[in-house]
Amino acid sequence: MNNLLKQLPNEHIRSVLFRIHHQSPFGTFSSTAQRFGLRRFKVTSITDLRKFDDELCSLTSDSPFNQWLSHGGGNYMMPFMTTGETNKVRRFFQGEELQFMSIHAQTLHNRVWRYCPVCKDNDLDIYGTSYYHQPHQIAGVFHCYKHGCELISSCLKCGYQLSDLDRAPVPPPVCPACKHKMQKDEGYFDDFMQDIESFCLLLNQQLAKFTLNDIQRKNLNYIGTSEADINTLAFKYRVSAWNQELWNSLGKSRLQRYFKNTKELKGVTMSPTLRTPRYFLKDSSFNYSPPLVYILAMHATGTFPE
Ligand SMILES: [Zn+2]
Ligand SMILES: [Zn+2]
Repeated sequence: MNNLLKQLPNEHIRSVLFRIHHQSPFGTFSSTAQRFGLRRFKVTSITDLRKFDDELCSLTSDSPFNQWLSHGGGNYMMPFMTTGETNKVRRFFQGEELQFMSIHAQTLHNRVWRYCPVCKDNDLDIYGTSYYHQPHQIAGVFHCYKHGCELISSCLKCGYQLSDLDRAPVPPPVCPACKHKMQKDEGYFDDFMQDIESFCLLLNQQLAKFTLNDIQRKNLNYIGTSEADINTLAFKYRVSAWNQELWNSLGKSRLQRYFKNTKELKGVTMSPTLRTPRYFLKDSSFNYSPPLVYILAMHATGTFPE
């Protein structure tokens, strides 16, 4: 393919065309999309895999799969896939139908676009435009990977959220709804969350060496059981104890920051997103869970894959 679109450093693949549209002097977004052979589309910052990701990655690179790894959250997602899912994703980027199914991605905290105020100003100086950085959109991350500042995602005055790139194709100078200055939302954050954040950013940089199987082996070992026991009552009890331990050690303040769907269960705060047999079962038919689920468990139990 020639005539590839140029993206800016660490620019999120799903926001590139919106930024290009913003910089073009005329027309609507649908005419910009049409120019590149796409129909009008909506995008979210949620880390998952959608039909349009292949089309968008193909616009910017001869290797859409590699493009997705580094600019669309692929590096972050891949280590938590089964072998079957990995194959489905590779085939998808070779032009096959999307067969990969995920759940709960929208229950995480990073549902709206986020930006760093320092990056925004620097990018304007250097590139003449601000843009959405991919590492700012990762679940588990609340601060800029370059400047450490808290990320901005909404207007504290009127409650406007950066969910629609039609309205905010690049990080806006003021709130698109009320024109007030956008401000960072200073929520709960502690050393544990800092470790999670660093780990998530590290995973995002390049494909990890560990696999979902390594995680499952570690977790089975941690609860003191093996794959041979999975149909026993004892296994059920151990999984239940694992869940309780996880929710207790993560605690309400953190869980409410990470998840939008927390609940009180017998006096303990939990998120249904955290419950998945995929922690343990190699051949679970459960759909792909958000990476943050495993990452939180690793840090809470100290079970890191080598
Ligand atoms: Zn920054
Ligand atoms: Zn506002």
